Amino acid sequence: MANINRRKFLQMAGLGGLAASMPYAATWGSQTKARVVVLGGGTGGAIAARYVKALDPSIDVTIIEANPQYTTCYMSNWVLAEMRDLDSLTHGYDNVKKRGINVIIDAATRIDTEGQQVLTAGGQSVPYDRLIVSPGVDFRWGAIEGYDAAAAEILPHAWKAGPQTVLLQEQVRNMRQGGVVAIVAPPNPFRCPPGPYERAALIANYLKRHNPTAKIVIYDAKDAFSKQGLFQAGWARHYPDMIEWIGAFQSGGGIKRVDPSAMTLHTDFDDLNADVINVIPPQTAGQIAIDSGLTDDSGWCPVNYRDLQSTIASNVHIIGDSMVSSALPKSGYIAASTAKVAAVAVVDHVNGREPGTPSYFNTCYSLLTPEHSISVSGVYKVAVTDGEQAIVGVGDSVAVSPADADDSFQNREARYAASWYDNLVDQGFG
Ligand SMILES: Cc1cc2nc3c(=O)[nH]c(=O)nc-3n(C[C@H](O)[C@H](O)[C@H](O)COP(=O)(O)OP(=O)(O)OC[C@H]3O[C@@H](n4cnc5c(N)ncnc54)[C@H](O)[C@@H]3O)c2cc1C
Repeated sequence: MANINRRKFLQMAGLGGLAASMPYAATWGSQTKARVVVLGGGTGGAIAARYVKALDPSIDVTIIEANPQYTTCYMSNWVLAEMRDLDSLTHGYDNVKKRGINVIIDAATRIDTEGQQVLTAGGQSVPYDRLIVSPGVDFRWGAIEGYDAAAAEILPHAWKAGPQTVLLQEQVRNMRQGGVVAIVAPPNPFRCPPGPYERAALIANYLKRHNPTAKIVIYDAKDAFSKQGLFQAGWARHYPDMIEWIGAFQSGGGIKRVDPSAMTLHTDFDDLNADVINVIPPQTAGQIAIDSGLTDDSGWCPVNYRDLQSTIASNVHIIGDSMVSSALPKSGYIAASTAKVAAVAVVDHVNGREPGTPSYFNTCYSLLTPEHSISVSGVYKVAVTDGEQAIVGVGDSVAVSPADADDSFQNREARYAASWYDNLVDQGFG
């Protein structure tokens, strides 16, 4: 029966219907060393799956992903400056499957951490020996009064790339001459700390060409932000008087309420109007992590930073934006770095080895214009103080690009940003 697969055999035996209705568990091969399931086939999940399979091909690796295609958030700000379109940021799973990784397109509804299985909206139950969870972020709807999923159709967040990005782009394009774009920036921690400020620069880049008397106002829930000095110098140089940043200390704690029908924003002191309002709301771990009891009071998933195992559930590893980040930024590059650490740890555990001590790496470029970029990078390690684990930067490795960088330096960084994208996407989807 060597060339007859199991489904064919069951069909021949008149049991084909049984095979179709059996839980996914029944289709595992008997030669499998271990079953590793990856929940979420975005940046972290796709890379983790690839590394597990590459490190130990005998492991059966399955991704469960809600959508048939993945659109990267990174570079979605570039769409606003007409530098890229969304199609060029969208990637399918054909190459993933070619590597011998199973891909189930279905939304996970719950992780049964006791029974070690993932339940899906499509009625499947997918068993695992080890689970890697990478569902990204979800939003704290209602944390800003009046801002919920319906309001986001009028005041887009554009913080998950796709139709929301297009909606924001169209609103900016259709804005009256001399209009105001408001960006509501979230409190820490959130996905992509420099993202709102790169967004301001790239919307300004579009407006400078098409609507030069328009203004952008950023209402921040924080008193400081990533690469602040570099951004503010870049805004002043490339878009003089166009971008204003209002920190929480100036507004009494940021935006507290929105009224989409009146297009107004409210602080404790003021009522503010704008023509386009981009609300980037406060964030949590992906909803599936919350629903499955993997989060703590912070709304994020606590982990052991040595192998990224959940401190709440056994044999579950959390990577990417959903984990309690400590000093790590919630970035695509960190999602990749945590994916590799988790992959090595999972393969070690499966093979009865103790995982080694990891390092984590970040590199993130932010465009000021299509030709000028600034960057931040860093190497991180696990530190234990008074029995408490944390992530800390190694020496002075965590640094931004120089304030006095000349044009040729920033031009080079803009080119590096494009190749950074190709490399990162290739790790998961190439
Ligand atoms: C505007 C913007 C710009 C950015 N720019 C940069 C940048 O320049 N550099 C950088 O490093 N980072 C950047 N980022 C951050 C980066 O996109 C994220 O940090 C990264 O995508 C996190 O990876 P992840 O795997 O944790 O989540 P994601 O990449 O979001 O993947 C999560 C996946 O899980 C799936 N999923 C969720 N729930 C379920 C479920 N219940 N069942 C099945 N599937 C599910 C989702 O469909 C998704 O495919 C940017 C983000 C934004 C918003």
